[in-house]
Amino acid sequence: MDFDTPLAEAWIRAIAAAVEKEQGRLTELDSAIGDGDHGSNLQRGFAAVLAALAALDGPRPAGPGTVLTKTGTTLISKVGGASGPLYGKAFRAIGAALPAPAGPAALAEALAAGLDAVRALGKAEPGDKTIVDAYTPAVAAFRTAAAAGADLPEAAAAAADAAEQGARDTTALQARKGRASYLGERSKGHQDPGATSTALIFRTLADVTAG
Ligand code: ADP
Ligand code: MG
Repeated sequence: MDFDTPLAEAWIRAIAAAVEKEQGRLTELDSAIGDGDHGSNLQRGFAAVLAALAALDGPRPAGPGTVLTKTGTTLISKVGGASGPLYGKAFRAIGAALPAPAGPAALAEALAAGLDAVRALGKAEPGDKTIVDAYTPAVAAFRTAAAAGADLPEAAAAAADAAEQGARDTTALQARKGRASYLGERSKGHQDPGATSTALIFRTLADVTAG
């Protein structure tokens, strides 16, 4: 199985559904160490993405890269918070790096390009209590699994497990980037909202590739 256009569209739709469902939890996490808008930022962003993807439907189906690039561009234009440009740049970079169709190793490298884009824009290091703390282990796990010959569902499941562990591990960290960093020591003891939504995004990839 390859990562093709139907899978790319299914992934984005699944993210939109997951964000809708988990909006309250994401907002609760962001209320503890931020300004309480992470859930609504992503809900609004992915609702706009669904509309933009519907407008893409034409006589000639777009490639999976185009689906993800359009997702990124829409997030950048519709989400005001820090997470909009960060996820927006990530999806644009993933889309730009993605061959059509992509096997597990090619998807791993495209996802890694997305992580590079997040780091280039946000300048966060692992351990700063951000998206990077879920995304970094997810890419590492995806690459390792793909290199060991895992198929797409196996590699994506390994990445989702690693992202969820990374998100849980942000609880103990002190935030050094973003709004939560204003709290200093008081940011400890709460799971990072952005790392949590990153784990959600990787879990939906595992779910849609598993069929
Ligand atoms: P805002 O902080 O502008 O309200 P959101 O609430 O939508 O935006 O997103 C907050 C999340 O963004 C944080 O939980 C964190 O994971 C992520 N974040 C903030 N700054 C950075 C950064 N420089 N690099 C990576 N992720 C970041
Ligand atoms: Mg916020």
